[in-house]
Amino acid sequence: MIDLRSDTVTKPTHEMLMEMTRAEVGDDVFAEDPTVNAFEQKMADLFGMEAGLFVPSGVMSNQLSINVLTTPGDEVIIDELGHIFNYESASAAHLSSVQLRPVKGHRGKLTPEIAEAAIRTKNEWDPHTRVIAIENTTNKGGGACYSKTELTDIRKLADGHGLAVHLDGARIWNAMTATEIEPAFFGSIADTMSICFSKGLGAPVGSMMLCSSDHKKHARRHRKMWGGGMRQIGLLAAAADYAVEHHWPLLKKDHSRASRFAKELDASEAFTIDLDTVESNIILFDPVEGLATDWVQTFGDNGIGVVPFGKHTIRATLHFQITDSEFEQVLEFVRSAEA
Ligand SMILES: *Cc1c(COP(=O)(O)O)cnc(C)c1O
Repeated sequence: MIDLRSDTVTKPTHEMLMEMTRAEVGDDVFAEDPTVNAFEQKMADLFGMEAGLFVPSGVMSNQLSINVLTTPGDEVIIDELGHIFNYESASAAHLSSVQLRPVKGHRGKLTPEIAEAAIRTKNEWDPHTRVIAIENTTNKGGGACYSKTELTDIRKLADGHGLAVHLDGARIWNAMTATEIEPAFFGSIADTMSICFSKGLGAPVGSMMLCSSDHKKHARRHRKMWGGGMRQIGLLAAAADYAVEHHWPLLKKDHSRASRFAKELDASEAFTIDLDTVESNIILFDPVEGLATDWVQTFGDNGIGVVPFGKHTIRATLHFQITDSEFEQVLEFVRSAEA
């Protein structure tokens, strides 16, 4: 199958596996894995943050971030399309006893005006607004990216109200590729940040929470409490480091393919797409007729994996393990599709 269901389907390459076998390791619960320690500091430095904490998943780094920024009874403002709101099993309620306040933004992005309208007064009975959580690029929002100005304005709003900013950067690598914003800028915006190595970068496992040294201490305890304390994971850090060094530059091609794919969809009589919405490696498009699930089946019958993303919307995601000839096959299918 030509797998465009997600960029999480990427598998470790031979070179990545070789790099893993060379990693020097130790017990990371004792903070004694030299490869992990070096990689955490390298990522923290890259993004202009004090500290990094390597964790098994993006959900864990998001949830640790919420945990360090809040106390029970607090509220987190988030776009209604946010991953933390839609795909994390209500864990902010379960693990941190906080409430999410989903608001309607634009393609998964908040504006200062929209976020500000959701900030509560400080009555005794109000939930305490504590965090603005943003996502870059947006997943359910179709890969939309924040501009520098948009991010600066959200930071200013947060500062004005004494709020923290959490940035879910599962696809921050795509955001940086699309906008050419330098990594350290994000550190100036976010109090906590989650970055991921196992999506388009192609590492088998791993995300990282970026934060202050104090927050890291608290997060290490909760990572252990939640069962995420791991041992000789220098192997995984080596894979993630390899992915950053060697696969980050490949995202450019995913993006240019996404825009070629989108143009082909736009030209097809079977599909509609708003070309302006294709900013990175995610493409959301609608069949002119018929249900998304039926079309997903038809794509599947033609050897192409995509996913339904609503009743009439389909999502395709590009990644570097699609070969040129596979990609041509996808375009050919779109050209031949009839409404
Ligand atoms: C995938 C994803 C996550 C969660 O990552 P997991 O490693 O699957 O837990 C969080 N946020 C966004 C935006 C994502 O796309």
